[in-house]
Amino acid sequence: MNLYNEVLVVSEIFCSIQGESSYTGLPCIFIRLSGCNLRCNYCDTKYSYESGEKFSINNIITKIKQYDPVKLVEITGGEPLLQSEVYELMSQLDANGYFVLLETNGSQSLKDVPHHVVKIIDVKCPDSGEGKSFLLSNLNFINKAKDETKFVLSSYFDYNWAKNFIFLNGLKNYKILFSAVSDRLDLQDLAKWITEDKLPVRMQIQLHKIIWDKDKKGV
Ligand code: SF4
Repeated sequence: MNLYNEVLVVSEIFCSIQGESSYTGLPCIFIRLSGCNLRCNYCDTKYSYESGEKFSINNIITKIKQYDPVKLVEITGGEPLLQSEVYELMSQLDANGYFVLLETNGSQSLKDVPHHVVKIIDVKCPDSGEGKSFLLSNLNFINKAKDETKFVLSSYFDYNWAKNFIFLNGLKNYKILFSAVSDRLDLQDLAKWITEDKLPVRMQIQLHKIIWDKDKKGV
């Protein structure tokens, strides 16, 4: 079988401004795969849980070429690692000259993610309702120089939990992102806690939710 023709179930493909991570602000193509094994209580992409359209990898690459010369691509979900064909997609994107980001919820093994891919790993905090979902063995597969570990915080309780997680697991010198769930945690409070504690983390806001309506799809 020609792997290039393997099929994935895709929720949506679009080009927008990257709203998170240290790539914030850059034009970026998003490939959102369908299906998720978690049910975070603040999830803003519930539409990706079930519905989707089948695309061969070949068709995905043909489709994203319409956004040339944008070469930054994020594979997201849902949880993209649930579809085994995603590994071939990552390889083919690289072979076609794309720089690949992978946004993952941290519950699936990162062992086989190709080295060229920048992983953005979401460690779910307790107030997400999925606080026990992180696969601890994934700590072995976070590349300190390029991967980013993200904590989306709903409360001061989450903030302290995330802070302890970082120190207990030796992530102090890694690329760490802290962000606030909109409508739950005040940005000024989060900024104050980080500066008071002098935490070596990058506070981020979801830029796409500031540019566009926070419930708007495909941005
Ligand atoms: S992991 Fe992401 S897509 Fe899945 S429920 Fe949580 S926020 Fe939603």
